[in-house]
Amino acid sequence: MSLTTYRRITQISFIVLIFLMPVLDIFRYDTATHELIVLGHVWSLGIDTAMLNDHSVRGSSHIAVRFFLKAVLPWVIVLAVFPLLGFLTGRFFCGWLCPEGTLFELADHLTLKIIGRRSLFVRKPNDPEIRTWNKALAFLIIIVSLVLLPVLGGIALTGYLVAPKTIWGQIISWNFTFGVKAGIIGVATYMMITSVLVRHSLCKYICAAGLMQMLFGWISPVSVRVKMDPDRMDECTNCRGCEKACFMNVLPRMNRRDISCVNCGSCIDACHREMGKGRGLFHYQAGEKKGRPSEDRTPCDINSTVHQCAKRS
Ligand code: SF4
Ligand code: SF4
Repeated sequence: MSLTTYRRITQISFIVLIFLMPVLDIFRYDTATHELIVLGHVWSLGIDTAMLNDHSVRGSSHIAVRFFLKAVLPWVIVLAVFPLLGFLTGRFFCGWLCPEGTLFELADHLTLKIIGRRSLFVRKPNDPEIRTWNKALAFLIIIVSLVLLPVLGGIALTGYLVAPKTIWGQIISWNFTFGVKAGIIGVATYMMITSVLVRHSLCKYICAAGLMQMLFGWISPVSVRVKMDPDRMDECTNCRGCEKACFMNVLPRMNRRDISCVNCGSCIDACHREMGKGRGLFHYQAGEKKGRPSEDRTPCDINSTVHQCAKRS
């Protein structure tokens, strides 16, 4: 199986998990009861009236420890996830799990199939050549993607604040409270606007999780990155498959530390297609390999016919 197939499996699985978490009471906050539910139980600090009335040093320390373990520590762990992921795996989460990234890739693909380029606004040098769909099929798919997916996303995310069975009850009876209506419409509108107009620019410049992974991946000496084999650069056929596969507009053959790369592996797959299975020029690598002067080269140095690759932004 190609890396892209594995990636689709992880992306879809993560979306299913996001949908199921509130439904199965794995994690949600109930605004009606003001309770945080974690793994089927109400998350409480466990500080009762007897504890609050105990003013001794022992009683106060007991409360402080409870507060640290139940309120501070979980937040520290949650906030550390993305820096740690970035330090170890670069932007792996963005490329392999993030539901927004998946939605933007879908939007890219649909735009390609409908108008022959990834962006609605301009044709880019790395847009792949692809056969477009006929207009009727395109229209049907646009309606489904532009309306149904954002609304489903709105229902799923509103479930983190309102009990999912309350939401579905309101949908079935078509009688909505303000909170549910605002949640579904707000999330659906956000998803529509970002997937039509903003897409990967949000990943590059706005998303806090992406920026944390970017920063920690950039400074990390050990984070995983996609690298071109420096000793085999002259085997490159200059098919540009790797560049055309890259929806983040990275130039993978430049072998530089590019903070936009989400470690998706599409360039690895593209090169395998061109060179033959197991013969591709790219691979995942943890950290930088110290070494021979040749490692600073790019195919642009080796093959003058590909010098354009250095010029494109
Ligand atoms: S350079 Fe390769 S791994 Fe990085 S984002 Fe582009 S296609 Fe994905
Ligand atoms: S896909 Fe491989 S052979 Fe084709 S341009 Fe990229 S590195 Fe060269």
